[in-house]
Amino acid sequence: MQAIVFFDIDGTLLRSGGAGKLAMETAICETFAVPPAGVRIPYSGRTDRAIIRDLMQAHGVPITEENFQRFVQTYLRLLPECLQRMQGRVLPGVLELLDHLQSRFGYAVGLLTGNLRSGARTKLGHFGLAERFAFGGFEDQHYERDAVARDALAAAHSYLNGRYDPSRIWVVGDTPLDIQCARSIGARVLAVATGTHSLEELLAYQPDLALPDLSHYPVFLEQI
Ligand SMILES: [Mg+2]
Repeated sequence: MQAIVFFDIDGTLLRSGGAGKLAMETAICETFAVPPAGVRIPYSGRTDRAIIRDLMQAHGVPITEENFQRFVQTYLRLLPECLQRMQGRVLPGVLELLDHLQSRFGYAVGLLTGNLRSGARTKLGHFGLAERFAFGGFEDQHYERDAVARDALAAAHSYLNGRYDPSRIWVVGDTPLDIQCARSIGARVLAVATGTHSLEELLAYQPDLALPDLSHYPVFLEQI
């Protein structure tokens, strides 16, 4: 039966070199004509919607759906040029792992990301990865990563017409929130220390497997 592997984006497949954060922080000031607030908002592993809510709060912008949509329009307009400017990269082993999963084993590969769907497409497109993922869960409606995980699983279910092995669902991510959301859908977890968390930090959350980076992918292929 078919295995499914869901990938997080930032810190797992790629590093945008801070492009996402730059686009967010420029967008809040530009959209609402406010000065930079100089506050530190946690980005890692969180959904875009939760980050945007915190940015609005920090800049004294009323948190309404209309303001959210205005913000998103600016963010999506700025993101491509920020990606150009910041020189990010696809992380080690990612392309090889995707090749093995898709071409060699024919596994289903999807996304499970805190990014907005259109932001995810822009980031992946910039790095030539957009065509690799046929389905996924995005954060368009949600503040919490666990809700995104439920969406991702529903998208996979529908894409595969229910033909997959529920005991062979994996989530690959770089933060404790990825591990937690994987558990919320009964998935197994490969944690990679290519984001902001060290291998030791990730191990404390008891992933099924933890690797320094995805160039160690043969270890994962053995377990899957
Ligand atoms: Mg991440």
